[in-house]
Amino acid sequence: MNSFIESVNFFEGNNPEKLAETYGTPLYVYNEKILRNRMDAVAKVITKYPYTANYSVKANTNIHILKLALEEGNNCDAMSVGEIQMLLKAGFPVERIFFVPNNVSAEEMQFAIEHGIMTSCDSLAQLELYGSLNKGGKVAVRINPGVGAGHHEKVVTGGKKTKFGISEEFIPQIFEIAKKYDLTIAGINQHIGSLFMDPQPYLDAVSNLLRIALQFKDLEFIDFGGGYGIPYHKLDDEAVFPMEDFKKRLEPILDDFVAKYGKAPLFKSEPGRFCVAEGSVILGRVHAVKHNNGKTFAGTDIGMNVLVRPSMYDSWHDIEVIRDGKVVARDNLMEQTVTGNICESGDILAKDRQLPEIKRGNLACVLDTGAYGWSMCSTYNSRPRPAEVLICKDGSVKVIRRRETIEDLMKLF
Ligand SMILES: *Cc1c(COP(=O)(O)O)cnc(C)c1O
Repeated sequence: MNSFIESVNFFEGNNPEKLAETYGTPLYVYNEKILRNRMDAVAKVITKYPYTANYSVKANTNIHILKLALEEGNNCDAMSVGEIQMLLKAGFPVERIFFVPNNVSAEEMQFAIEHGIMTSCDSLAQLELYGSLNKGGKVAVRINPGVGAGHHEKVVTGGKKTKFGISEEFIPQIFEIAKKYDLTIAGINQHIGSLFMDPQPYLDAVSNLLRIALQFKDLEFIDFGGGYGIPYHKLDDEAVFPMEDFKKRLEPILDDFVAKYGKAPLFKSEPGRFCVAEGSVILGRVHAVKHNNGKTFAGTDIGMNVLVRPSMYDSWHDIEVIRDGKVVARDNLMEQTVTGNICESGDILAKDRQLPEIKRGNLACVLDTGAYGWSMCSTYNSRPRPAEVLICKDGSVKVIRRRETIEDLMKLF
C-alpha cells in the first residue's frame, strides 16, 4: 500500500500541514469514522448469546473517545480508580463499568464498592480484602489460564509466568473465601495477552476458561479477555485480524458450553487496541536531518515521551512522509532512522527504515497510534504532553485535549 492515510482519507479533506500549523506538533489526530467502525465491530463478536464488548480503556482514556464507545454500545473495563472516574465523567452508568485491577489498596476497592461497580479480584489476597469490605457482595475472579491452555504458542503459555490472575489449583480456596464472607462469585475473567493476529490461541484459551467455568455454579458472566491484533505493518500489506473467521470458529465452542452448562451466561471480551489503534496518527515536524557515520537520522519532535511503544516494546509503527501537505510516494526509498528530541540514545521511532527521503520541515505521520499512545505519554525532559484533535464524521476538527503547558507542570510544585 502506498499510503494508508490516503486510502482511508484519514484527514477527511483537511490538509495535514494546516492541522500541524493550527494546532502545533507533535499532534495526535483521530478519525471518528474509523474509531466508531472498530468499536462497532467488537460489539458484534458474539451475536447468538448475550454479549458485551468491554472496551479496555487503558488503551486510550480520552473522555471524548470514551463517549464514542458509550454511543457504540461498548461497556468498559477500568484498571484503576482514575479510569473509573474518567468513565463516570464520560457518562457511563456504573453497571456498564467492570473494574479489573491488580494489587489495589482497600481504599481503591472501597471506591468501586461504594459506587456499585462490579470488581474482579486478581488474587486470593484481594478476594479476601474484598470480602472483608463487602460481606454478602457479588464479585468476579480473574483466572490465570496458564495451565491447560499451555500447549499452544507463547501467547498462551505466557499466562503461567505473569503476575495476573488466580491459578486453577487455587479454585477451592476461592470457594472457601466466598463462603467465609458470603460472597457470590458472579463472574470469571481472563486476559491471555495482547496483539495476536491468529485467533487460534485465543480460541484455545476460551475453551480452557469454559472448561474451568463448569466448576462455578450460576455464573452471571464469563469474560474471555482482549488482545485482538491490528496490522502495524499495513504499508507492507499485512492482513487485518480475521474477525469473520474468528466469529465462525468461536460460536460452536460457545454452543458446546451452553449445552453443558444448561444456560448461557453473559459473555464478554475486553478489546483495547483493536478499538482505537488504527483511529489515530501522530503528526510530527522534522527539525533536523543529519548523517552520523554514514547513517541518516531524521530528527522529529515525536520523542519517546510522545509515543513510547517503539522504545519500550521495540514496536513497529509505519511512518508516512508528508511534504507540502501531500504524502510523498513510496518509490525511491532509502534507509533512514527516525528519532525524537529526547536525550536518550533509545529515543528512536524507526530504526534503519526504508522510507522516502525525509527533509527538514517535512511532517512525519506515524500510523496506528490510538492505543497505548497518548495514554502512555510522559513529561520526560519536561516536555508538556501533546494535544489531541478529532476529525469528525463531517470533516470538522475538534480539539479533544489541549496541549499541556509548562504552567501545567509548574502547578505541581
Ligand atoms: C490491557 C488489557 C486488555 C486489552 O488488551 P488489548 O491488547 O489492548 O486488546 C484487556 N484486558 C485486560 C485485563 C488488560 O489488562
